[in-house]
Amino acid sequence: MSKIISRRKALTNTLALTGVALIAPLVSKTALAQKAAAIPNAASETEGVSKALGYCADADKATACPNRKQAARKDQYCKNCQFYTAVSGQDHGPCQLIPGKNVAAKGWCNSYARDPKKS
Ligand code: SF4
Repeated sequence: MSKIISRRKALTNTLALTGVALIAPLVSKTALAQKAAAIPNAASETEGVSKALGYCADADKATACPNRKQAARKDQYCKNCQFYTAVSGQDHGPCQLIPGKNVAAKGWCNSYARDPKKS
């Protein structure tokens, strides 16, 4: 009888761990979606043109923005990219490469190109 209980416990534990492993990425994506929703027409890290460009809303987060972690890129942000249009009083603005969407000033993507007129 105790072997049956042990197998049952083992099965229950396995199912619980599998559930956590399956749900964790969904929770993470939900948190990203909620964060993006704070910006009107926010560019998405997980879909569309912005995903194809490797856009990340917070360039300083290496886990969300792995392609930017090279030392030479440490001062690269949307706010000093030639494709970004700053909006007075806002921490986000439109990007010419992601039509109809706003990107975070502290964001970044693989198509970054420094605008010498911006700091
Ligand atoms: S092109 Fe420039 S402004 Fe647009 S998402 Fe990429 S880094 Fe940001």
